Amino acid sequence: MIRIRNIHKSYTTGQNSLHVLKGIDLNVEQGDMISVMGASGSGKSTLLNILGILDTYDQGEYLLNGLKINKLSEKKAAQLRNKMLGFVFQSFNLISFKNAMENVAMPLYYQNVKRKKRNLIAMEYLDRMGIRDWAHHLPSELSGGQKQRVAIARAMITNPKVILADEPTGALDSVTSLEVMDQLQEINKEGITMIIVTHEHDIAARTRKTIRITDGMITDIVNN
Ligand code: ADP
Ligand code: MG
Repeated sequence: MIRIRNIHKSYTTGQNSLHVLKGIDLNVEQGDMISVMGASGSGKSTLLNILGILDTYDQGEYLLNGLKINKLSEKKAAQLRNKMLGFVFQSFNLISFKNAMENVAMPLYYQNVKRKKRNLIAMEYLDRMGIRDWAHHLPSELSGGQKQRVAIARAMITNPKVILADEPTGALDSVTSLEVMDQLQEINKEGITMIIVTHEHDIAARTRKTIRITDGMITDIVNN
């Protein structure tokens, strides 16, 4: 599903260049569930953003479902993201003035699905996440766990092949974290490939394989 070879990435600010990814190789098979661990600043989010076609890389090769991902136009990148990828973030990234249902339905708006239909489909996904009763509440009226369930439903609504989650439990208490992980595991069982960045060992232990990044390089791969 995902193949990357010798990926390098530097950020340049003014005169300074920071070499963040220093030759990353990674294979992720369809239906796999892997975690990425590493110290703050080691390059985890940079890697995830490249995998999510949210950022570019300087050197190496990235194949997503057999398709070469390199220097795509913003339009093509957006199309691929919409068709293939779902994103979940630590800070949920919900739209504050839209209710849960409208947040979940948002990706379908970009696919030109009519409002009535997209809201109906959003309700199904809210139902699957166990938060149907919260459909008409704003994010500010939801707990952290409920907000993350809304975000997961939004990631799922386009039928992605891969879900990329950047510290999805980073803002949740430990009980809620494990509940959210239960739901991510259920989704993975349906065959959706999942890559989860986390700081927490008990979260990583719930995935099949943990990759450790140290200073922009993969230094360890452990089967859980
Ligand atoms: P992690 O997610 O592992 O904490 P990141 O991938 O976010 O690490 O960041 C790796 C390094 O790259 C950090 O030193 C960070 O400050 C730097 N960095 C990240 N994004 C940018 C950016 N857009 N511009 C400049 N430097 C960045
Ligand atoms: Mg990060």
